[in-house]
Amino acid sequence: MNPTNPIGIHALVWAGDTSAESVTRAITQTKKTGYQLLEFSLHDSLNLDVEATRRQLTDAGLRVACSRGLAFTADVSSEDPDTVKRGADLLADSLEITYALGGTHLTGALYSALGKYGKPLSTQGRKNVVSVLQDLASRAAELEMTLGLEVCNRYETNVINTARDALKLADDIGADNVLIHLDTYHMNIEENDLVQPVHEVGDRLGYVHIGENHRGYLGSGHLDFAPFFRALNAIGYQGPITFESFSSAVVASGLSNDLAIWRNLWTDGEDLARHAHQFITEQLFLIRTAA
Ligand code: MN
Repeated sequence: MNPTNPIGIHALVWAGDTSAESVTRAITQTKKTGYQLLEFSLHDSLNLDVEATRRQLTDAGLRVACSRGLAFTADVSSEDPDTVKRGADLLADSLEITYALGGTHLTGALYSALGKYGKPLSTQGRKNVVSVLQDLASRAAELEMTLGLEVCNRYETNVINTARDALKLADDIGADNVLIHLDTYHMNIEENDLVQPVHEVGDRLGYVHIGENHRGYLGSGHLDFAPFFRALNAIGYQGPITFESFSSAVVASGLSNDLAIWRNLWTDGEDLARHAHQFITEQLFLIRTAA
């Protein structure tokens, strides 16, 4: 593992909204607990003060990434042209916001709503995904930015549930700034194991979410993280490794419901963040010393 992998944290550990006060707290706490990158969800970000946020991130010396999913009313995997257009507009706005914040990565479920679909993806729906993401990737390339296709479980999308699905979609989009984003929480539900998909994705891996099977404290669930970190090392992954965790203690009005965050898995975000940072650092250290 390269010691330069930036270790990130999702802003929902700190705050459920993007008001000025919440953004300041998220940035301060991210810095204080030793992380190098803060990931904002643009799911509920209407009131985000982009300029002020960028300034505070720069002052704190933090990198930033953005993520989002779409909505059933604004969904590029729909067959309805108006619904697709609303999804494409959301993505275009999100890309510009990410750039204005100083970020180089926009990732997540950029290809569908985050929610349970009642039927499989249609042929026309998939064509729409490819076409919209080709346009978005072309704008991203002008900005020297990367798009991530986060592989999500079957209850949150019907577009890509495995690394193999994601590679196929990325092939069809055909842009070299569209990379794959693996998340151990989703992999646990859909993949055979946490290792083979990492090797399958190889140098097309662009972003990583570390989450437990229940999205709470790392190590308190049943995921065996060591083989996953060894696989990241084996493929020479040098990108961000971002801790993602959710609890009913911190609620974002839209996102928390879409992700079915019903349980209180933690109340003290700072304790959680410190624990996760130490956990990830130890995993990286173990691999480096074993190598
Ligand atoms: Mn994730």
